[in-house]
Amino acid sequence: MPKLKFKSFQTFKKKFLLIFCVLFGHSNIVSSCMGYVSCGRCGTQMGDTLAGSYRNSKAVFVGHNCDICKANYKKLTWKDKLFCPDPFKEVL
Ligand SMILES: [Zn+2]
Ligand SMILES: [Zn+2]
Repeated sequence: MPKLKFKSFQTFKKKFLLIFCVLFGHSNIVSSCMGYVSCGRCGTQMGDTLAGSYRNSKAVFVGHNCDICKANYKKLTWKDKLFCPDPFKEVL
């Protein structure tokens, strides 16, 4: 049952990343979908930009590729980058 194994691995990975975020804090690398902002590492929703409940001047949005994100990315530490996707990699 390879499917089941893959699923349990994904669950394990998610739990591991959650624990990492609990210990070190959520990453400043974030992904946003429909205004909702979630941690680029564990996927936990951290707020939404439309309602103004998410304000982070250090945030780097995955796929944004804007000057602010690029400048912010340079200031990130290993705690932000570890286990996170490369925010500029998947830009079309
Ligand atoms: Zn997180
Ligand atoms: Zn940006």
